[in-house]
Amino acid sequence: LTVLGLETSCDETAASVVRLDANGRVEVLSSVIGTQFAAHAPYGGVVPEIAARAHVEMIDSVTAQAMKEAGLTYSDLSGVAATAGPGLVGGVMVGLSFGKAVALARGLPLVAVNHLEGHAVSARLAADIPYPFLLLLVSGGHCQLLSVEGVGACRRLGSTIDDAAGEAFDKIAKSMGLPYPGGPALEKLAEGGDPSGYELPRALLGRKGFDFSFSGLKTAAARFAATVATEEERRDLAAAVQAAIARQLSERTDKAMAAYAQERPGQSLRFVVAGGVAANRAVRSRLQEVAERHGFSFDAPPLAYCTDNAAMIALAGAERLALGISDPLDAAARPRWPLDPEAAAANPTHA
Ligand code: ATP
Ligand code: FE
Ligand code: MG
Repeated sequence: LTVLGLETSCDETAASVVRLDANGRVEVLSSVIGTQFAAHAPYGGVVPEIAARAHVEMIDSVTAQAMKEAGLTYSDLSGVAATAGPGLVGGVMVGLSFGKAVALARGLPLVAVNHLEGHAVSARLAADIPYPFLLLLVSGGHCQLLSVEGVGACRRLGSTIDDAAGEAFDKIAKSMGLPYPGGPALEKLAEGGDPSGYELPRALLGRKGFDFSFSGLKTAAARFAATVATEEERRDLAAAVQAAIARQLSERTDKAMAAYAQERPGQSLRFVVAGGVAANRAVRSRLQEVAERHGFSFDAPPLAYCTDNAAMIALAGAERLALGISDPLDAAARPRWPLDPEAAAANPTHA
């Protein structure tokens, strides 16, 4: 299967061609990402209307570039996969409509992909990771622990009750005067910093379950940010914030691994971390330690596949097509679209 993937749910316009063979082997033939950082930077965050316009301007050339780099024409494709949500609906509609047009013109099946399912399969772009696995999905809008049985089969074990981990990075970075997007800027500032100088709150400790909370940390960090004077203090605060986020992610994963392993005696145990925050080296290394301690394999996507990209959307689409799943040409764009609808209905405020 050779699938064109399109991603336009936030602030990157991306297109990619991925091949999935009958043995489950994955080959990324191209992955093109047009970023809009410069357009949003003056506002310190993503402006939906600017994003939608930029997607309209870029989707043609980004897609043409992905086809060219793959060395293919539309008649070589087996299907088109486009993000149909969750995300900024104006942008989602651009990529989804474009995908529908290609599908209609070329008589190809369309897959309306859940962006989060894209993140969930992203580590499989570069490594052979069989299902099932325990997934920590940490992105700009989501922070969840999921038991992933396969495409379309995710059970949510826990999620944030307020901010997502990436959102916490971004908001704290902003309060420290760092440029958007804040996560990578904060990681850079934290290099060589001493995290021990700042006492930051540990949320939901001792509480049952595997939920996350970052709002207390955000408030405390903003208070410290207002008092730091020297560059060295700023570096230390950044290191403390990063350590506190990594600590909460690893503490909750630790608990979830213990429960997950207990339900699966004698089975091979696999752990995957995905989403933009999985690009953070402190987060990765803390999680890797926890995985090793519990006897889980550890995988994270290569950095380029942690943040938004279309290769993960193409792969999710290809995996669905391989199962005989496709979507009608009137598939709707969905601003909200949980991976585990039952869990989401039970806890509508969790992200
Ligand atoms: P969602 O996938 O939930 O819809 P999104 O698509 O905006 O949200 P991603 O693109 O997966 O999220 O990830 C972006 C987030 O990852 C941002 O919050 C960004 O700050 C964070 N991030 C990216 N790189 C790093 C890093 N090195 N350290 C910490 N955070 C990072
Ligand atoms: Fe994302
Ligand atoms: Mg993004």
